[in-house]
Amino acid sequence: MKEEIGILEGRQSQVFEKKSGDEQQFDIACDKTSLSGSVSQRACVFCGSRVVLYPVADAIHIVHGPIGCAAYTWDIRGAVSSGPELHRLSFSTDLQEMDVIYGGEKKLYRSLIELIDQYQPNAAFIYSTCIIGLIGDDIEAVCRKVAQEKGIPVMPVHSEGFKGTKKDGYKAACSALMKLIGTGSTEGISQYSINILGEFNLAGEAWIIREYYEKMGIEVVATMTGDGRIDAIRRSHGASLNVVQCSGSMTSLAKDMEEKYGIPYIRVSYFGFEDMSKSLYDVAALFPDRPEIMERAREIVRDEIRKYYPEMQKFKSSLTGKKAAIYVGGAFKTFSLIKALRTIGMSVVLAGSQTGNKDDYERLREMCDEGTVIVDDSNPVELSKFVLEKEADLLIGGVKERPIAFKLGVGFCDHNHERKIPLAGFVGMYNFAKEVYESVMSPVWQFAPRKGGLA
Ligand code: SF4
Repeated sequence: MKEEIGILEGRQSQVFEKKSGDEQQFDIACDKTSLSGSVSQRACVFCGSRVVLYPVADAIHIVHGPIGCAAYTWDIRGAVSSGPELHRLSFSTDLQEMDVIYGGEKKLYRSLIELIDQYQPNAAFIYSTCIIGLIGDDIEAVCRKVAQEKGIPVMPVHSEGFKGTKKDGYKAACSALMKLIGTGSTEGISQYSINILGEFNLAGEAWIIREYYEKMGIEVVATMTGDGRIDAIRRSHGASLNVVQCSGSMTSLAKDMEEKYGIPYIRVSYFGFEDMSKSLYDVAALFPDRPEIMERAREIVRDEIRKYYPEMQKFKSSLTGKKAAIYVGGAFKTFSLIKALRTIGMSVVLAGSQTGNKDDYERLREMCDEGTVIVDDSNPVELSKFVLEKEADLLIGGVKERPIAFKLGVGFCDHNHERKIPLAGFVGMYNFAKEVYESVMSPVWQFAPRKGGLA
C-alpha cells in the first residue's frame, strides 16, 4: 500500500489545493517566519541581501561574521560582469571566539582598509550576520570612518540572519542602494530613459533585455543589480521610469525612488513570449510622444517570435499533456512560468514560492487549474509529497530543489541563481523549452522507481 506523506500541523495553513467554487475559503497564510523544524527551503535575511547586492561588480562585499555565512553565499549567483569581477570574491572578517567576546569592530576596520588598498573598489558593502546582531558591533560607525578616510561609499547592510524572513534581507539591500542613489550627476540623461530593477544578469540575461530596450531607442541608465556599477547606481535617479522585475526583491526600492525622486515604476517579467512582449509594449506605452518606440517594440516582438516559433512547436508536440511542479523564490516568476509552460503544452500541478504575499497567492489561485496545489515557504517533504501524488514529470526550482527531483526520478529545470543558460527574453524562452524538453523526455526516467524501474 502506498504510504501517505503528511503535512506538519503548523504548516497546514500555508498549503492549499484549488477546487471549484472555493474562492471564499482561500485564505492562505504567508509572510511569516518559517516553522521551526520544518526544514524550510527559504534562506535567511543575510542571504536575501547578499543575492540582491551580489552582482554589483566593482564593489567589495565583506561578510562581517563567522566564515560559514560567507561560505554559504560565496559566488551565490551566476551573475556575469562585462568588466570587473570583484563581486565573485567573498570576503569575510572570519569572527572567532575572542572577537565575539571583545567585539569585531577593529577587525572589520582593519579588513576594510586592507581590502580597499588592495582592490581599489568604487564602494564597499558590509553585511551584518546573526552574530553581529547578538554582540552589537556598531558597523555604521566603522563604515562612516572608513568612508571618510578612503573617500568611497561604504554601506552597512543590516541583514542579521535571524531578524525576519528573506524578504527583510531584500529590504536591507534596497536601503543600502538608496544610500548610493542620488549621489551622482544626472547630466546628459535622456528623457526616454529607464532603470532595469530586479534583473541580476544571470548568464547574461540583463544584456539581452538591455539590448531590446536600446533597440527601441530607450536609454538604460542603470541595471540593478545585474552587471551593476556603482557610478550608474549613483545617477539612476535621473531616469524617467523604473522597470521592475523580481518584484519581491526590488519593489521596495522602486517605491522609495518614487517617493523621493518622483520616478514612476511598472512591474514586468521577462520570462515567456507573452510576458516578454508585454514588458516591451508596457514601457513603450509610457513614452507616447515618441510613437517610433512602440513601432520598434512591435518589430522586435515580430522578428523574435518568428525566429523561435517553429522549434517551439516541435517541443510542444512532445510535451503536451506533461505535468510540472514549480517552487521558486518569488511568486511573480511563478505567474510567468505557468504561462510559459502552457505555451509548450504543459500543465502545472504544484505552484509555490518562498516569499509570495496574499495578493500573489490570490492571483496564483486565479491562474491555476483545478487540483493544483499552492504552497508558501515549503520544505523537501512537502515538495516530494506533491510531486509524487500529482505525478509531476518536471520540477522547476533552484539548487536546493534539484536533489529532490533527481531522487524522485523526475526531470528538473534550474530557474534560479545558479543557472548558466539565459532563460529571459525571447531566446530565453526557447532555451527554457529546450531544457524542459531534454529533461522531461530523457530516457533515463524509465529506470526511476516511480516508473517501476530499479528501486
Ligand atoms: S546570517 Fe545567521 S542564519 Fe544566515 S548564514 Fe549566517 S549564521 Fe546562518
